[in-house]
Amino acid sequence: MAKMADVCFGPAGIPIQCDGNSTLDGVKCCAELGLRAMEMEFVQGVRLKEKDAKEVGVAASELGISLSSHAPYFINFCSKEKTKVDNSIRNLFQSAAITAAAGGRITVFHPGFYQKQPPEEAYAAAKKNLLETYEKIKAAKADKVILGAETVGKKSAFGGFYEVVKLASELDFVQPVLDFAHMHARRDFLIKNEEDYRKIFGVLEKELGDYVNHFHSHFSEIKYSEKGELSHLPLGTNKEPPIEPLIRVIVENGYGGTIICETPKLDIDAQKMQRLYEKMLKA
Ligand SMILES: [Zn+2]
Repeated sequence: MAKMADVCFGPAGIPIQCDGNSTLDGVKCCAELGLRAMEMEFVQGVRLKEKDAKEVGVAASELGISLSSHAPYFINFCSKEKTKVDNSIRNLFQSAAITAAAGGRITVFHPGFYQKQPPEEAYAAAKKNLLETYEKIKAAKADKVILGAETVGKKSAFGGFYEVVKLASELDFVQPVLDFAHMHARRDFLIKNEEDYRKIFGVLEKELGDYVNHFHSHFSEIKYSEKGELSHLPLGTNKEPPIEPLIRVIVENGYGGTIICETPKLDIDAQKMQRLYEKMLKA
């Protein structure tokens, strides 16, 4: 029997079609919009309280919304400055702990910056500091949550596709978060068609096996320069990268996972992606 694909779609943050502005409102609104995922944005700091996170978790589980979170932007596990590293560890730990309280599956983070270090040095620092973060997460019994190393969009940032895949293959509590727009803007992969997506998933199947059945990803179209990403664009603006071939490759292989929409139109574009997926599933 062919594998049945199951992909959840949802916005990066509270839907723009939502009247309320709390995380709980966001979860309820996603359900009303027919979406099945939401990423809680802790990008400026972890402000959700544990008590509220638990309430969010109850609602999400009742409404069938799969929760993830995005840790603060200022995390840098490759820094040479101890205070910055300590701060990064604390912030990723807090993000994971609150995500665990909400019953979420994964906390996404941007690994760091090279800052003149050779890539191997940046890699070693990131690995060491992630191990330290995980010790704290385990001690707090929040280790149901996976740490999601996102593929970054700037050439100056540590977290190219292969770096992230390597981290995930060496640390079982880390998974890649495929940000296709970033991969395209950073030139890790020029993404134009189905063949390009097949190459990406081919590497993932080879290196990480089962990951393709529960991948976590971000999608947006993107404006970029020589140095990488500039800004996220709504679906249908420049089709870089294109969404249709991605969905087709996912459906044809029966891959499963989550696609979080990071365009400026968040939930509106997430609904578009979901409709496309449902249409291709039926075709
Ligand atoms: Zn991100």
